[in-house]
Amino acid sequence: MKIAENVEMLEVKIPRGEQTMTLYPTLIWNDNHLVLIDAGLPNSGEIIAQAIKNAGFDAKDLTEILLTHQDIDHIGGTRELLKFAPQAKVYAHEIDAPFIDGKKTPTKLEALEQRKNSLSPAELPFYNMLKTGFATAHLPVDTLLRDGDVLDLCGGIETVFTPGHTPGHASFYLRSSKIMVVGDAANIADNNELHGSNPAMTWDNEKAEASLAKIKSYDLNGVISYHTGYLKF
Ligand SMILES: [Zn+2]
Repeated sequence: MKIAENVEMLEVKIPRGEQTMTLYPTLIWNDNHLVLIDAGLPNSGEIIAQAIKNAGFDAKDLTEILLTHQDIDHIGGTRELLKFAPQAKVYAHEIDAPFIDGKKTPTKLEALEQRKNSLSPAELPFYNMLKTGFATAHLPVDTLLRDGDVLDLCGGIETVFTPGHTPGHASFYLRSSKIMVVGDAANIADNNELHGSNPAMTWDNEKAEASLAKIKSYDLNGVISYHTGYLKF
């Protein structure tokens, strides 16, 4: 779905057991850059490459992959995409980067490991998926981001530190189109209201609420939410 002059919201459907998970990575471009924000689950690299093709581009031309945060459904396909585009540089906020490159145990996996012997039958498959997923998905982060950093490409991509969902979650404000790519820091409710990170999946609810307010304080034409799509203002 075309959102603005140089912004496309990809719709990626990833089979997951009996179900399908729909994700909305973002593609931004100019003459020399093709930027992807968030990269799906492990084994979804091909599916994302196809979505990039459907948008009229080629995954081998990716120059930057920006990760909003450490979770497996955001970093999972990055290594596969780097096989198409070995020149692409990976960016993430400095606080979540050690969870992405494997120096620290990812936040959601750590929380489950702490009570490993008392996980419910419903939690076990999630735990196993995280355990095996991260084992293959960890990757080096080339560039560490901080709040307010602006990547000087595609009209300026501003890092907006929006912790809460994870300790180092970042959103990306596209200055030329006034679109905020919010990852999991905000979700669009059925009534088109913008809500914060899903409390059940949130590391720190207080920080998440503050991050939602921070997002809303920007001059916005719309937001792209990774699990709930596009909301135009
Ligand atoms: Zn997510």
